[in-house]
Amino acid sequence: MIPRRSSYEGISLYSPPAVQCRVDLSDNTNLFGIPPAAERALREFTASTITRYPVSYAPELKKALSSYTGFEPSWITTGCGSDDLIDCALRAFLEPGERIAVPEPSFSMMSYFAKVNGLQFIPVPLRPDFEPDVDGLLATGARLIYVCSPNNPTGTGISLAALERLVDAAPGLVLLDAAYIEFADVSLVELARSRPNVIVTRTLSKAFGLAGMRVGYALGRPELVNEIEKARGPYKHTGLAERMAIAALTEGLSWVKARIEDAKESRTRLVAELKAQGLAPLPSEANFVLVPLPGALQVAARMRELDVNVRAFQGLTGVGDALRLGCGPWPMMEAALQALREARR
Ligand code: PMP
Repeated sequence: MIPRRSSYEGISLYSPPAVQCRVDLSDNTNLFGIPPAAERALREFTASTITRYPVSYAPELKKALSSYTGFEPSWITTGCGSDDLIDCALRAFLEPGERIAVPEPSFSMMSYFAKVNGLQFIPVPLRPDFEPDVDGLLATGARLIYVCSPNNPTGTGISLAALERLVDAAPGLVLLDAAYIEFADVSLVELARSRPNVIVTRTLSKAFGLAGMRVGYALGRPELVNEIEKARGPYKHTGLAERMAIAALTEGLSWVKARIEDAKESRTRLVAELKAQGLAPLPSEANFVLVPLPGALQVAARMRELDVNVRAFQGLTGVGDALRLGCGPWPMMEAALQALREARR
């Protein structure tokens, strides 16, 4: 008899529709491409490095992240994408059977991570203004509260005052998922320094254009970071991913910052054009825009026939059907807007 966890019954694998389109705005990655410095690191990577293990717990990468974030290396841990850090944090801080409170809608993988870690997933609807419901999250009594800001898929953020109220009243930890924080005007990341119960997860998959290399990190007090490192194990990155990440965070930084500004400019223009089409996109602080649209699934299917892939949602809590469009170079946005116009005819 093969041993099995009964809690794994009914868990299905994450399966976004695998489609190939000329314009793909579906996954919120950096549509401008890879930082040239990271591409150089890729070309210069030597075969001899591949036969050896990378240095355990990635100290060089932590050093580069330290100069980018201003957090000491002992306040940083890294992982195989921020997905991995979230999963490790749930394992490190909660016992199976405990509750995790998560705003709804938010990052769709959270219910999956809760299930695979044997946790009770408690969704708490966003308020009508799309901010997390602080009182509702606190009322769950969960020892770990997850908040994503800017939030995927709405693009909306939580105010610093609301987040501080949540953190200061929380019975346990608050995990702030800041995967898109580079695109927001207010950085909430400093709370990981000023509060003893905050872990912030971040990633090089979005602003830094390295989604395929799988590099994420978490910031928090050393005693919190240490617990995550126990769950993480010593070798979470390939040596190549580490070199490319370090290059992007150091020599590549001015390129990355310029592309963040480009994405924000595209976002402003995209919102205006969507409004001109009679739609009401949500205000976004991320590198994507969510636009409520009845029949979004069918519209997205027609857009794919026109070689444009966007993410469609059905019946999102408080939103309804909606399309999520990533913000990249303006010609891509124009193609998407044209396809949307045709698909809605
Ligand atoms: N958090 C949020 C809110 C996301 O949207 C994503 C990616 N879609 C992640 C975390 C995970 O990103 P990664 O594992 O590539 O760092």
